[in-house]
Amino acid sequence: MKRVIEGVRVVLMGMANAFLIEGNEGLTLIDAGYPGKEAAVFGTIRGLGRSPDQLKQLIFTHGHPDHIGSAAAIVRETGARTYMHPLDIPMAESGGPFRPMRAAPGLLRRVMCKLFYHPDERLEPVAIDQPLTAGEILPIAGGIEVIHTPGHCAGQVALLWRPGRMLFAGDVCTNLMGLGDPVGIESLTEGRASQRKLASLSFDAAGFGHGAPIARDASTRFRNKWGKKSFA
Ligand SMILES: [Zn+2]
Ligand SMILES: [Zn+2]
Repeated sequence: MKRVIEGVRVVLMGMANAFLIEGNEGLTLIDAGYPGKEAAVFGTIRGLGRSPDQLKQLIFTHGHPDHIGSAAAIVRETGARTYMHPLDIPMAESGGPFRPMRAAPGLLRRVMCKLFYHPDERLEPVAIDQPLTAGEILPIAGGIEVIHTPGHCAGQVALLWRPGRMLFAGDVCTNLMGLGDPVGIESLTEGRASQRKLASLSFDAAGFGHGAPIARDASTRFRNKWGKKSFA
């Protein structure tokens, strides 16, 4: 149970991260990791001196197996309301198969994509209560802005928690050995546009589906990597 910034804990759920936001009206979880990892979420909640039934919202950055894996078990225990972009809802509500993805550029990602992404995987389905709309600001934890960021996955969103100035980037990028591409992509062109979109925003902290969170000056790093002045 590691604190990223005041009010945000990272929850390790296999090789994927979830994030817990403490708000006045209850707790909010961003993403639900690999299957069988729900105990990590409940442990983090109890570590805060709260109980699992205080988890009120579960917002997904996208519908891939490593982000919805423990969702059904978490909802069963907590009754949390679920949120996802409409384009990914069919994957979550069927529990698979998942849309095919090809590897992002580079040998390492080609190997990792084959190892870790299995479109034919079947998971316990999770019902989505509320579809997310691009540009809306959810009245949760003081305001969470929804930014549609396709490329890795058509229904992917990034979430900007305004009071804490923290961006949850999902798999728009990873922070494994510095900021870089996700392992797989549906569209490289759209993925680049989404990375540039995030690089144009202002935020302090950032969390990723995979890799270490950044506590400070995160938007500077995004700008250096994908901003207008960068030719990388
Ligand atoms: Zn993904
Ligand atoms: Zn992922």
